[in-house]
Amino acid sequence: MNEQDLNFYNSHFEEIKDINVIQKFSFNHKTKTFDGKIALKREKSDIEFNVNIPEDYPFRDIRFICSSMIGYPHQNYDKSVCLNTPFINHIYSRLELDIEKLKGWVYQYVEQEKSDEHYEYSPAQYGGTVDFLFQEGEYQQERFDQSRFGEMCYSILNTHTSNKKISRISAICQKIGNKEIEWSSSYKKKEKHIGIWVFINQEPVFTRKHRIDNWADLVPLFPEGFLSYFEDFCKRTANYKLGAKTFQDKILLSVGYRIPNHKRKEEIHWDLILLPKNQFPRKQRNSSQKLGNSIQNITWEQSYNSDYQRFFGRGALTNKITNSKILIIGVGALGSSIAEILVRGGIKSLSINDIDIVEAGNICRSIFAFSDVGSSKSAQLKAKLTSISPFVEIDITDNIVPYSPKSEKYEELKTELQKFDIIFDCSANNGIIQMLSDMELKSKVYYLSMTNKAKEMICISNIDCISMIERRNQMLFSLNGIQEAEFREGTGCWHPTFEASYFDINQLLHYTVKKINSSFALNLPQKSFYTYFENEVISSSEDIKFIQKELGLTISIESACLDTIFDLVWQHYPKEFGGIFVGNYINNYKEVVISDVIIPQNFKSSFMGFQPDPNDFNRQLKKIYDKSNGKVVYIGDWHSHPNSNNQFSTPDFQSIKSVAKSSKVNTHNPILMIAAFGKDYFDPGFYVYFQDKLYKYEKIK
Ligand SMILES: [Zn+2]
Repeated sequence: MNEQDLNFYNSHFEEIKDINVIQKFSFNHKTKTFDGKIALKREKSDIEFNVNIPEDYPFRDIRFICSSMIGYPHQNYDKSVCLNTPFINHIYSRLELDIEKLKGWVYQYVEQEKSDEHYEYSPAQYGGTVDFLFQEGEYQQERFDQSRFGEMCYSILNTHTSNKKISRISAICQKIGNKEIEWSSSYKKKEKHIGIWVFINQEPVFTRKHRIDNWADLVPLFPEGFLSYFEDFCKRTANYKLGAKTFQDKILLSVGYRIPNHKRKEEIHWDLILLPKNQFPRKQRNSSQKLGNSIQNITWEQSYNSDYQRFFGRGALTNKITNSKILIIGVGALGSSIAEILVRGGIKSLSINDIDIVEAGNICRSIFAFSDVGSSKSAQLKAKLTSISPFVEIDITDNIVPYSPKSEKYEELKTELQKFDIIFDCSANNGIIQMLSDMELKSKVYYLSMTNKAKEMICISNIDCISMIERRNQMLFSLNGIQEAEFREGTGCWHPTFEASYFDINQLLHYTVKKINSSFALNLPQKSFYTYFENEVISSSEDIKFIQKELGLTISIESACLDTIFDLVWQHYPKEFGGIFVGNYINNYKEVVISDVIIPQNFKSSFMGFQPDPNDFNRQLKKIYDKSNGKVVYIGDWHSHPNSNNQFSTPDFQSIKSVAKSSKVNTHNPILMIAAFGKDYFDPGFYVYFQDKLYKYEKIK
């Protein structure tokens, strides 16, 4: 005990002019608190508070307990006031603030009788034996027209033991208030026990918010006929085991009533009471004991509304995703993690397809556990996901294997796949992505894969790609070429794998899911993109598309390229600047993908012209060509028009024409891009050279 603190508290409260100290502070060695009693002087009458200041104040909170008042907002069941003062590590300042808050509470809630906009559950003395989870949405008047009491049905979610005895249970409600509760099938299938429910017309509280704590006060709130129904229930179920072990001598009684919800409407709250079974007349035994006079005090149990909205209230994916039927093909490192992200985000229907079993080497970068080794990946994942959310139905399939269009099974599987709204292909199987590309499904398909050492994660969408596999290959070529996996577990392993850590994979994966979620939420077109680390920060580059309708040609340029160009042209402002594009052609040369820009080391530039050194370009192109095994090639030229528009000039035309006519260039239809920009605009104009003319592209939104 700190003598200095004690003296400080006594002298400080003495000095506050609208506080009288009724009982000086002294140290309570049992509770380790400085206890005293004060009166707050008010116009009408003074209000007395017992004050407990913990030895460790302000690390722990001061308590002001007002025995003369109950049931006010922000007043706990033990009559202490909930002040919610911000933390300050300074006894004097914190005490000043706490006293200010206390005065504010008295003024607002006691004198002005203000009521909060938000409903506050009425505090009660809780038994600490059961956690009772129910689901309630908006209150419907007609729900209790038929009956206002009946049998309740519940299942045990889990049991907690101490000293080898069950000390506490969690129970989920299956049926209550004339309604079945909708949990996912594995929860609905659980063993059921019965209890009783009653719906009352008002909250079981007195003097504002103080929870009723004895039967004499509660019984008058019960609807007519309930007491005799209850007696009958006890007799009728005399030979039943009403609950799980340890609770077999209890009757669960749930009391429901209307409370306001956050949408300014109403919902039902169900409270729970455990009644000792042996205190009520069972069978035809004569007994005078009845509900209401048999036991005096009521002990309430904890109960929670756990409906879908509440369960995912703190954060969920957009409902455009959660209401979709989703399939994940391949549940290794990527597939298992994305499954967990989606389930925690509130999805309701998920199918998983994988025939592999869990190996020890899988654990370090997936959501599987060591104890899962040797089990089926799908089955273990299903169990895990089911334990996370009671709202998701998970289906395991094993029929998704690569079929060529020639196969009998091809059409059958295609029909099957069309039933899904969203498909994530995390299988890293070339046959699967080829098949999904060929099928041209209506479903939104995302192909996800990592590059070596988790430097990038690529996400190819079938919505913006005619051929997913071509775009996938192209993306891999441009991202440092296709690298051979080289990690081997021990010697003699015939199947090398990529190295990638759980944290790297999941940073990119979470970012990828965030981007997909935003595109659904904002109704944006689905795009292919990749995410990558740049100086330990995650960025992404998505495909931006331009179309030339007359010729039926498209350009996909990675947004990272346009960002690079934007930075470069401003660096050289107000002079012109430029470079060349590299990438490749896909979709029978109808689509060109621009994946990078090359800039010259040597060039001449002015306000109205730009001349790069072609030898410089050739050297750089050769390097890229060799590194990518000839997959990444020259696509066209670009230069800037500072403070102007993206119309090409005569010299611009002549220059691209000479490129097209050159026998040394791989294409006769080079792209020309003019990056027009100024203070508040950046307007790249794309053209293709075709039969002695330049054709302009339009941007696809
Ligand atoms: Zn120009």
